[in-house]
Amino acid sequence: MNRAGARLLSWMPSIGKNFTERRLCATLPSGSPNPYEKEKVKCLLCAHDIKLDYKNSRLLQQFVSSFSGRVYDRHVTGLCSHQHDKLVKTIALSRRAGYMPIFVKDPKYLRDAKLFDPMKPIRSHSFA
Ligand SMILES: [Zn+2]
Repeated sequence: MNRAGARLLSWMPSIGKNFTERRLCATLPSGSPNPYEKEKVKCLLCAHDIKLDYKNSRLLQQFVSSFSGRVYDRHVTGLCSHQHDKLVKTIALSRRAGYMPIFVKDPKYLRDAKLFDPMKPIRSHSFA
């Protein structure tokens, strides 16, 4: 739509954008799709058809704050309400099953020096 057309529409708010869309679609051959139709916005999980699994903790961990351990809100993740509800339930199940931590370390202790390395014991393990 050119500038003059936009100005004309602003003059006639009762007619609006839908009226011009209908008129333009009437000129198209019947059965053709509406070229002005907007694409439906899908959330990340719906768009890629990702199934949430309680055993896939690496996926679920991305939706949880590493500082507070809380699930990010919808305005942060951009998920639809259906997927968000599913996510919260799946995270709860994953925590109960032991795939995800329930308690998180206080961020001020994250840089503490390691007291020991479990992969390098002082003496060999009795079973080894
Ligand atoms: Zn969705």
